Amino acid sequence: MASKRAREEKLDDEEERGVTPSVVVVTHMDCLLHRGNEGSRDSSGETPARITTLLSKIATTHPPPILPPRKRHLQIFSTPTHANLTDLLRVHSGAYITRLLDEIPHPSQRRLRHFSPGHSGVKTSFVSGGSLDAILAAAGAVVCAVDAVVGEKRGAETAFCVVRPPGHHCGWEGVESLGSPLDLAQGFCFVNNVMVGRWFLLFDAVGAAYASAAHGMRSVIFDYDVHHGNGTEGIVRHLLAVHDPTDGPFPFLFVSAHQYEIGDDDGTFYPGTGDIIPPSDPAYAHVINIPLPPGSGSNAFRTETERLAMARIASFRPDVIFISAGFDSHDEDEVGDLHLVDEDYDWIARRLRRVQRRVVSVLEGGYLGGKGEEPGLVTGAMAHLRGLMEPVEVGDGST
Ligand SMILES: [Zn+2]
Repeated sequence: MASKRAREEKLDDEEERGVTPSVVVVTHMDCLLHRGNEGSRDSSGETPARITTLLSKIATTHPPPILPPRKRHLQIFSTPTHANLTDLLRVHSGAYITRLLDEIPHPSQRRLRHFSPGHSGVKTSFVSGGSLDAILAAAGAVVCAVDAVVGEKRGAETAFCVVRPPGHHCGWEGVESLGSPLDLAQGFCFVNNVMVGRWFLLFDAVGAAYASAAHGMRSVIFDYDVHHGNGTEGIVRHLLAVHDPTDGPFPFLFVSAHQYEIGDDDGTFYPGTGDIIPPSDPAYAHVINIPLPPGSGSNAFRTETERLAMARIASFRPDVIFISAGFDSHDEDEVGDLHLVDEDYDWIARRLRRVQRRVVSVLEGGYLGGKGEEPGLVTGAMAHLRGLMEPVEVGDGST
């Protein structure tokens, strides 16, 4: 039954249906099983309703066709295979994954367990009986999206993974300090989903023939969550430190645009990292931080992205671009203070696709509530989807 359903939901491809979706939305209902949000008031925003609310909006805006369409712009795919241990061990240490597996309660248990140290007494990251399935489903969705966008069974030009728990604060050993003045937690993250996707690209690829070609594939990841992607930067630094140059050039460039503020305990914006990387830093060629002060808004986001990152992204010549899509940078979201608006998420998707049209985007933060009629998570993500769907002219990436 399961395999029949999976076949029915197989991604369309040109040969079989004559329709190629511009974008595939990849999700998994197991992402609803993680109940870490019930652990404390400080973790209450990262809820299953984030996923169901967003999927409901996507499905009503882009309903599945009853009759075969001539051109399908969006397809929802909801039965990706879970990530396996090998996928996780490429981006996290064995000791960390062992601890994660040891501490997640059995699915039959109702109790939650506090998983990581809290910063300044704040406890954010709890695991529940359903957490393992949710974590493996989220990472597996990204692997599936890579398959769909750049794999042998290519079925879409871009993908958007609507998954939880998020991943970009999770480093090689879990908590990633990078010298932060805060006693860090993991910001609701347990496995770095987008990094799993990236390393799948290199080592598993999609079929043996593709693996050899993919070995030299270069990728950029652009993170616009309001919080610095400290976990992703930490993993890039770890892998760079152990990289053997005889294997070829290190193929990743990480870019994070985020709110940045260092003050006393209450004045430091989580996670307290993400300042400009100086040229003397060993990771300079592979990490670009775009720190934005509180209240920056659209103009500063776009101007600083152009000034600090776009030329370097274009000259890196990526074969695929990943996006860590966090909508807590939205003006309607109460978590941050960057004041981005819907059009910014459309703009950045189109801007990156002018460099490389193959894009895999992965949901990070972005929460319900806020002051508007609809949450910034929903309106921002829908604008982002438009930016992933509409045709763009691929050029040299200059403005
Ligand atoms: Zn965030």
